[in-house]
Amino acid sequence: MTKPNAVLLTGGAGYIGSHTAISLVQAGYFPVLLDNFCNSDRRVLGRLKQLLGDQAFAVQEADACDQSQIVQLLTSFDVTAVIHFAALKAVGESVVQPLRYFENNNQALLSVLKAISSIAKDRYIHLVYSSSATVYGDPDQVPITESAALRPTNPYAWTKVIGEQIILAQQQANPSCRAVILRYFNPVGAHESGMIGEQPQGVPNNLMPYVQQVAVRKREYLSVFGQDWPTPDGTGVRDYLHVMDLAEGHVKAVDYLLAGERSEIINLGTGTGRSVLELIRAFSQASGQDIPYRFTPRRPGDIAVCYADSSKAVSVLGWRAQRGLEAMCTDAWRWQSGNPDGYV
Ligand code: NAD
Ligand code: UDP
Repeated sequence: MTKPNAVLLTGGAGYIGSHTAISLVQAGYFPVLLDNFCNSDRRVLGRLKQLLGDQAFAVQEADACDQSQIVQLLTSFDVTAVIHFAALKAVGESVVQPLRYFENNNQALLSVLKAISSIAKDRYIHLVYSSSATVYGDPDQVPITESAALRPTNPYAWTKVIGEQIILAQQQANPSCRAVILRYFNPVGAHESGMIGEQPQGVPNNLMPYVQQVAVRKREYLSVFGQDWPTPDGTGVRDYLHVMDLAEGHVKAVDYLLAGERSEIINLGTGTGRSVLELIRAFSQASGQDIPYRFTPRRPGDIAVCYADSSKAVSVLGWRAQRGLEAMCTDAWRWQSGNPDGYV
């Protein structure tokens, strides 16, 4: 089963993991997807096979908290790097079920690190970790650099801050443990084929998937949370990033670690902030659909503006987002209109 350039993707059947699998195959890697499908659909695997062929990747149904399963995969595929996506990610749910979030997100990371270190005496296995711009909370200034203060405001964000701290401590203790921590801004869109994309469970929490569902008339209208933010048009501003750009950022991070470079923490964003109204307009134009919306009060815990200083990703990884808002909306619409009920 040993494969050259095997990369283990925990949470590999999820939204970002499935798109990253495509970019890895295109770059000559062999992705090994581990997932327990707690927030993904097995049918994504069939779509990936249609796109990539069924010999291009492997799949293991398992819990990332199960260290022995990870050791077994690292060994049998001779894995050279792990991208650790597996986590629960719904902010509101994390407020209601904090213990579940800390247990799942941090235990899974501990299992991955322990599995890696259990075979570190033979060879190095590198780590790319999914962190989030949510670690910055409400930033003092934008664009946000990697040295900005960390101010998590909910249990989900804390699981990411704690995850980063666990990795940094492990690096201090074992300099051979090398990792790139990626802080993503707001991933949106879908693969250009329209065959894979984001499939939220229940009512979407995030703006783009909600807009997509309004566009296919699954939802009547979008609630725009606040029109009195201190922004040019009064609505919240975020750094939306095409998921395929994000996927390619992971390939760059793996290339970087395999080239023997040192550990880093890096923002992945476009560096440009867009308002809710801008996104609605862009989506409407790309899809040809009317997006009805109503202003409602601010969402508790929301912030006005968040966008990345993305210069470190350029200088360290040689990565820069290539796709603009129009491509994000066009690709999101192709996925949503072709698959109004997701992978059904
Ligand atoms: P997702 O929910 O689509 O994918 C995560 C995958 O992990 C799912 O397939 C889920 O079934 C799996 N999973 C969760 N816990 C597991 C466990 N214990 N064992 C095995 N599999 C498990 O989420 P995503 O959007 O693809 O996010 C991937 C990563 O990126 C997560 O760590 C998330 O916190 C982080 N992130 C996401 C965003 C975003 O907006 N999507 C932003 C910043 C950071
Ligand atoms: N938003 C909105 N209506 C929604 C969902 C989100 O107006 O149904 C706004 C939200 O207030 C924020 C922006 O859209 O200004 C992005 O929200 P999302 O939840 O997608 O990302 P996050 O706030 O976590 O960065």
